[in-house]
Amino acid sequence: MIIDSHIHLDDKRYDEDLDEVLNRAREGGVKRFIIPGADPSTLDRAVEISEQNSDVYFAVGVHPYDMGSFNDLDFEKYVSHEKCVAIGECGLDYFRLEGSDEEKEAEKSRQKEVFIAQIELSKKYNKPLIVHIRDASRDSKELLLEYADNKIGGVLHCYNADEELLSLAKSGFYFGIGGVVTFKNAKKLLNVLPKIPQEKLIIETDGPYLTPAPHRGERNEPFYTTFVAQKMSELLDIPIKSVKNITTQNALELFHIS
Ligand SMILES: [Zn+2]
Ligand SMILES: [Zn+2]
Repeated sequence: MIIDSHIHLDDKRYDEDLDEVLNRAREGGVKRFIIPGADPSTLDRAVEISEQNSDVYFAVGVHPYDMGSFNDLDFEKYVSHEKCVAIGECGLDYFRLEGSDEEKEAEKSRQKEVFIAQIELSKKYNKPLIVHIRDASRDSKELLLEYADNKIGGVLHCYNADEELLSLAKSGFYFGIGGVVTFKNAKKLLNVLPKIPQEKLIIETDGPYLTPAPHRGERNEPFYTTFVAQKMSELLDIPIKSVKNITTQNALELFHIS
């Protein structure tokens, strides 16, 4: 079995055929789905999908691109829901910074503030973090080491395959591997992947984004995690069955689901 630890099922692009998307995945062996919080305006949709499907869970959080909505989000209300398994996705994303150097610095500080606040919530509610990192490895690592709780930990998703982040494996952090691993130009990730301790590997789609080969360019969906598992099996030189067992065990442990 596979657990898709990061799938935006609340995205409009799944509205029309959600049941088919889920059933295709289930038939392919994907048995649990976690919807990360990103944009609070679709969070109620994530809750609804989790209530209608026993194998779907959700997280509550604010993505660095949606920071403006952080103060209006009632974390307590969502976190007390029985299907809420994590805080996130939250983190730092310096990829799209715009404006003058000063404006960029101000934006970075705001992102850090909102990230720290969510790390604090992860400790307050004893829920692991789903961390989004893009072009911000050093700052993200610093904040996680300073504020996060090793025993609660979390998963680093969408991370730039940066060696710098590897040491976080010792601080309770897992590494979400997705479609990028199938891209021919993903040299960094291909180099780093074998260095990640196997007990810290988990699988994700990040659908509808980052579709793996051979489906690049299409909408991503959880069934395609099978291509990710296949590629991991080749790269790590272990049977695909072991990839599925290991990553499933890791995800169950991190998110405290069964
Ligand atoms: Zn992300
Ligand atoms: Zn995401």
